[in-house]
Amino acid sequence: MLDRCSSLSSGAAPKSITVRLSEPVIFGVRCSHCGYDDTAQHGLRKARDQDSRLRTCPVCGSDAIVDVRDELTLTELVRDYRSAAIPVGYILVDAAFGTMALDLGSKA
Ligand SMILES: [Zn+2]
Repeated sequence: MLDRCSSLSSGAAPKSITVRLSEPVIFGVRCSHCGYDDTAQHGLRKARDQDSRLRTCPVCGSDAIVDVRDELTLTELVRDYRSAAIPVGYILVDAAFGTMALDLGSKA
C-alpha cells in the first residue's frame, strides 16, 4: 500500500484507474479545418454551460471538434490537470480496493 501511494505522488499512476467526473466537462476545442485551438478560452468548463457557437471555429467558420468527457484516467488527471481547476462538484475514482468519492468543493 505504501508503494502504491508513493507511485501516485510521483506521477506514475497506474493507467487502469478511471476517474469519473460528476458531470461532463469540455477538455478541448479545436477546429477540424484550420486547426485553431480554442481550448484556452473554452476548456475546463462545464459542458452544460456552453452553447452551440462553441462548435463553430471563430477563425474560419468550420466545424470545431469539442472534446467533452465525463471520465479520464488517473494518469491523465495527474499528468495534465494536476493544478487545474476542473469545475465539477466531485469525482469518483474506481480502484482495485473500491470506489472513492472525492469532493472538489466546486459549486455545482
Ligand atoms: Zn478554423
